[in-house]
Amino acid sequence: MLIDSYDRVVDYIRVSVTERCNFRCNYCMPEKPFSWVPKENLLSFEELFEFMKVAIDEGVKKIRITGGEPLLREDLDTFIKMIYDYAPDIDLAMTSNGYLLKGTAKKLKDAGLKRINVSIDSLKPEVAQQIAQKDVLKNVLDGIEEALAVGLKVKANMVPMKGVNADEIADVLEYCKARDITIRFIEYMENAHAKADIKGLKSDELLSILREHYDFEDEGFDGSSPSHYYRMKDGYRFGIIEPYGDDFCKQCNRIRLTAEGHLIPCLYFDEAMSIAEAVKRGDIKTAALVLKEVVKNKPEKNRWGGEDSELSSRAFYETGG
Ligand code: SAM
Ligand code: SF4
Repeated sequence: MLIDSYDRVVDYIRVSVTERCNFRCNYCMPEKPFSWVPKENLLSFEELFEFMKVAIDEGVKKIRITGGEPLLREDLDTFIKMIYDYAPDIDLAMTSNGYLLKGTAKKLKDAGLKRINVSIDSLKPEVAQQIAQKDVLKNVLDGIEEALAVGLKVKANMVPMKGVNADEIADVLEYCKARDITIRFIEYMENAHAKADIKGLKSDELLSILREHYDFEDEGFDGSSPSHYYRMKDGYRFGIIEPYGDDFCKQCNRIRLTAEGHLIPCLYFDEAMSIAEAVKRGDIKTAALVLKEVVKNKPEKNRWGGEDSELSSRAFYETGG
């Protein structure tokens, strides 16, 4: 079992399989050229899988595949199947922008994927296009319908921004509610890569907008999820992710692996250790030692919003959000 210095059990790893993306979201990577990541720096699926086996053997029970856009990585279903065949009971999930889901959802489900989180920042084609810098909405919504149809459990993420999509909070919630999709509103996290003029909504602002439409009760945190949940009178539950708080740090059970093999103990810290060399030369023992060291170094709380907080240079497309 992996236990950190604050007695938290670490049993969840988020694996970014690529930094590349087919969107250029204004809060994530608006300025990146479309082909900037040298493919040779990426760990192969075989190398990633060798490390996944180490993590599973050490007690990891949940793996989330993310990016960049994970569906840009060819043959992703083979990687999912490798993990599933090794550990069928693993909670195997993915976070995706959904653009390429249509036509692939069944393959992913058949390979062993159980759940998928898709970003829905707007239901208006022109606003979705303004955010992603590409005409994306139809593909995303078709992809979500297909994911639901093949039996994947779906959650949605929305980053509400003032003057952009804040007026659609209730509409996105209604779209999700009608399909039994849990929506989580994510407070915009400032970072050095995003467009400078973005103003995100903080949770109190989100809640007051939602209270204009609905009655709901605070349910607090659910297990190790960073999402603060609220339940409406009809039973529907929505979440708010408040990265500027540190309430969820007490239950944090996760670490992150980048596509190049950097193991990161906390989204909000720049410290990382690489497993790349060890994995590339088949030295699984060293990879396991690095894993234990990273878990040991996991900080007690995130640094954002604290006295020494500064604009994060860590890119979400690198860490997988
Ligand atoms: N491309 C996939 C997607 O968009 O879902 C997976 C990777 S993306 C980095 C993972 C999550 O991070 C998405 O839900 C996205 O909205 C969120 N994200 C990215 N940049 C963010 C920011 N600056 N503030 C809050 N959330 C952010
Ligand atoms: Fe791509 Fe996701 Fe970042 Fe948008 S949030 S640019 S879809 S990685």
